[in-house]
Amino acid sequence: MFGFKKKNNTFKNENGALDSKALSEIILSTIDDGVALLDKNGVVQMTNPAAGKIIGWEQKDMNGLDYASVFIIVNEKNEPLTNGANPIARTLLDGVSHRDNNAYILTKNKKAVALGITVTPLLEKNQLLNGAVIVLRDVTNERYQDKQRAEFISTASHEMRTPVAAIEGYLALALNDKVARIDDKARSYLEKAHDSTQHLGKLFQDLLTTAKAEDGRLQNNPQEIEVGDLLQKLTEDMRFTAEKKGLSVDYLIGASKDDASIASVGPSDSKKVIKPLYYINADKDRITEVILNLFDNAFKYTETGKITVGLTGDKNVVQIRIQDTGNGISAEDIPHLFEKFYRVDNTATRAIGGTGLGLFICKKVIEMYDGRIWVNSEVGKGSTFYINLPRVNKS
Ligand code: ADP
Repeated sequence: MFGFKKKNNTFKNENGALDSKALSEIILSTIDDGVALLDKNGVVQMTNPAAGKIIGWEQKDMNGLDYASVFIIVNEKNEPLTNGANPIARTLLDGVSHRDNNAYILTKNKKAVALGITVTPLLEKNQLLNGAVIVLRDVTNERYQDKQRAEFISTASHEMRTPVAAIEGYLALALNDKVARIDDKARSYLEKAHDSTQHLGKLFQDLLTTAKAEDGRLQNNPQEIEVGDLLQKLTEDMRFTAEKKGLSVDYLIGASKDDASIASVGPSDSKKVIKPLYYINADKDRITEVILNLFDNAFKYTETGKITVGLTGDKNVVQIRIQDTGNGISAEDIPHLFEKFYRVDNTATRAIGGTGLGLFICKKVIEMYDGRIWVNSEVGKGSTFYINLPRVNKS
């Protein structure tokens, strides 16, 4: 592919063997991606020309400097990312790969460049952290196109929501016995039209939220929330809907389901328990939307059994889980669940309405608060969605 076998091969040394050092140098100096090597203390050991070009530094000037003075990663408000969010700091700390496609990097002249970054640890014997390799990419064009697309979707869905709401309103009036007189056949048609209009309204609402989540315009007024209190209230609200379908609902504070130390605080439970308080810093409305969405899915995709809302945590993390005894999700679908418009194609989802945007929005919201969302599931047994959020420790 690279023409290694042709005569006058410049990639071979005098013994006729491939000169891997020369090859690496050619690759590193040719690629458009910036590459930098850090030692375990975060000191820059090597960079390629593209890295210098992206951030406007001379290659030779970067060597020997602390990464934080060269690779200054900021958010859209030009604020430096905290160590908990900065992929370089995180990898140097936990020895795990981290990536970020939403941040910016400041050039030497303090210009913010849209950044795609992957940081990979250099491990020895799978343990000892020897440093890290950074791969940087200037994603200004891609980010601009994403923004244009999001703006278009946002405007279009906003404009279309109004007429859809009007149609839904008139259909509701036509179906109202006190307002209109219609025969049974017309009623069944209008009911179908009403359901579809509601679905369309939800789709536009989800599209609008998605577009906002994608370009960082989701309304966000973070405040300290006690998650236990919030979950208990939401569970009580959701219990009514679930019980109408014959599903029971449990709310558990403590460790996992199998843990004996669990403290049940359902309304019928008279046990006196000391509830641990789990504080997070987030917008209450956004977190509420995420919980309701997960609960709505558990409700939609569960025919019999129960839904369990759980809360646990440790010194640094608050963990919420929504568990159901429903259809479950196959292993091949799990990696795609949080993608836009992804719906598992089976008889259940074909019969049940949905937009395939709910979990995508949940992930965006949780990541906005430096959290993580994932699922464990087994077909036929049920699914458990987990959310980890940084815990705020109140002294
Ligand atoms: P939808 O509007 O289709 O529910 P979501 O993004 O919320 O969109 O979910 C994506 C897909 O993930 C769903 O279509 C469904 O196939 C699957 N899914 C989500 N939650 C569950 C669950 N609790 N049990 C089984 N399948 C689920």
